[in-house]
Amino acid sequence: MAARDAVRNAGCGPDAPAPLPTLVAVSKVQPWERIAPVLAAGQRVFGENRVQEAQTRWAGVRETYPDLELRLIGPLQTNKVRAALDLFDVIETVDRENLAAAIADAVAKGAPRRRLYVQVNTGEEPQKAGVAPAEADAFIARLRDHHRLEIEGLMCIPPVDEAPGPHFALLARIAARNGIPRLSMGMSSDFETAVRFGATSVRVGSALFGAR
Ligand SMILES: *Cc1c(COP(=O)(O)O)cnc(C)c1O
Repeated sequence: MAARDAVRNAGCGPDAPAPLPTLVAVSKVQPWERIAPVLAAGQRVFGENRVQEAQTRWAGVRETYPDLELRLIGPLQTNKVRAALDLFDVIETVDRENLAAAIADAVAKGAPRRRLYVQVNTGEEPQKAGVAPAEADAFIARLRDHHRLEIEGLMCIPPVDEAPGPHFALLARIAARNGIPRLSMGMSSDFETAVRFGATSVRVGSALFGAR
């Protein structure tokens, strides 16, 4: 499992005593024949970007693997919040007020309280989800104070055509000044850089499973 070894090496050099980042195996779109051997080899944390696809794929798998951890890393519509909270352990894409409100409302009505990440649009790309960096502090405060939601981490997807380092550094700064402990950053092409900038989890798809 080359990607996992590289993650281990990147996070574990003599000058980087930080704990190992979590490998989130991004299984979206992949056929089960590619996922099953990774699961059998001991990988337990998987990322999916669509609620329905994840339900189809993972329903029932928990019976065999009770320590499975599923993370939603794609956009979440408010009408799918209850289904998402029922299925996923972690929602990494909280990025707007009405979504936060829908999550708080679902929890008040009995949905499980899940680990939450705020997605930050570090590149301020119009087509990309995530709160703008300049609005992140106020958004985080609103989630905490008004919606009573605990924020475990921040997540970002840097622009494809830019060096990712400054985006990871920006995400780390926003997390630090808001007292947020975790950083979900780094994909197949840049996870080693992300680990150097303090990623506590990396989301790796194609480098692990092959091209989609
Ligand atoms: C698909 C996806 C990934 C994985 O991308 P790879 O380049 O295949 O590693 C990571 N994060 C998010 C949000 C994704 O949608």
